[in-house]
Amino acid sequence: MKTKIYELQEKHLDFHAIQEAAEVIRNNGTVVFPTETVYGLGANALSQEAARAIYAAKGRPSDNPLIVHISSIDMLLYVIGEPLSLTAKKLMNKFWPGPLTLIFKKSSAVPMEVTAGLGTVAVRMPDNDIALELIKQSGLPIAAPSANISGKPSPTKAEHVIGDLQDRVDVILSGSSSRVGLESTVLDLTGEVPTILRPGGVTLEELQEVIGEVHIDKGLTCKETAPKAPGMKYTHYAPEAAMTILKGELPKVVKAIQQLTEEQTKLGKLVGILATEETKQSYQEGVIVSMGSRDNLYTAAAAIFDALRQFDKQKVDIIYAEALSEENIGMAVMNRLKKAAGFNIIEV
Ligand code: AMP
Ligand code: MG
Repeated sequence: MKTKIYELQEKHLDFHAIQEAAEVIRNNGTVVFPTETVYGLGANALSQEAARAIYAAKGRPSDNPLIVHISSIDMLLYVIGEPLSLTAKKLMNKFWPGPLTLIFKKSSAVPMEVTAGLGTVAVRMPDNDIALELIKQSGLPIAAPSANISGKPSPTKAEHVIGDLQDRVDVILSGSSSRVGLESTVLDLTGEVPTILRPGGVTLEELQEVIGEVHIDKGLTCKETAPKAPGMKYTHYAPEAAMTILKGELPKVVKAIQQLTEEQTKLGKLVGILATEETKQSYQEGVIVSMGSRDNLYTAAAAIFDALRQFDKQKVDIIYAEALSEENIGMAVMNRLKKAAGFNIIEV
């Protein structure tokens, strides 16, 4: 198929382009659109055929359910099969539109293809005017996973999407770089205590401030337990080259990466180093990419996927990454780094 690409600006919406894209959604086609987290690959969330088109375009395993994007509370009520709890209302008031996905019991309007056979549905209201206008104009909830080929780092720039999905989708709405740069936090509200199934743009600490007790799915930290979000079990976000994370006191980490880089370079390998603003000057050899400042890990969240893709572009043979703090937004950034490294971590 030939993909139509429209360049849009959030501040001056091109209603004509969005109406054309909305028509494609109503006809069960596929539209890539920007959100504040990462770019999404969207289609009609009420259609089996549309959901299948998403899995086909991404090469996504069909047991990995999709997040349903909505633009109004009426749309939310249409896709969920339960009354809104006080907890859900508090969370929506505080974090929507924004990078928080909530899991509810699903209504019969949502086909099993969208939820990968589960009786629950993941829903979120994105904080991006292009995305919201597309959902509104189409008059339909839009199911949308990240707009990358399955397994690759998520796309935070239009160029990532075009590289991965050109001629595999009907329309690409290209906008600016994703503000948050990491996927949404997935919070399960169907159990006794709200539980994080995937760390993301809204932190554990922020959730606790609004609703008190929050659990973290055991499957995220313990290798023996299967994660409750089916998507978390896959190797993900992975650059082409094997990646190792080095963890410990920062001077020791830097020293270890310097030594490993020297060894590998002598062997004729091109080394990628995932560093930070504070450490990037310490490295002389290899492809050195800064993922942002240790003082503000939101900068790392916004840069991490682009940084991983840069190693692919430069065709490095092996990658060493510095570990970051796992507090606040650091939990989500380190979750993505660990998955990109296939949990290959060396303590120094
Ligand atoms: P993506 O859309 O690629 O950002 O991934 C969506 C994430 O949400 C994946 O990890 C899914 O497994 C998870 N997810 C979506 N729907 C559900 C659900 N009903 N129950 C549990 N996890 C879900
Ligand atoms: Mg994804």
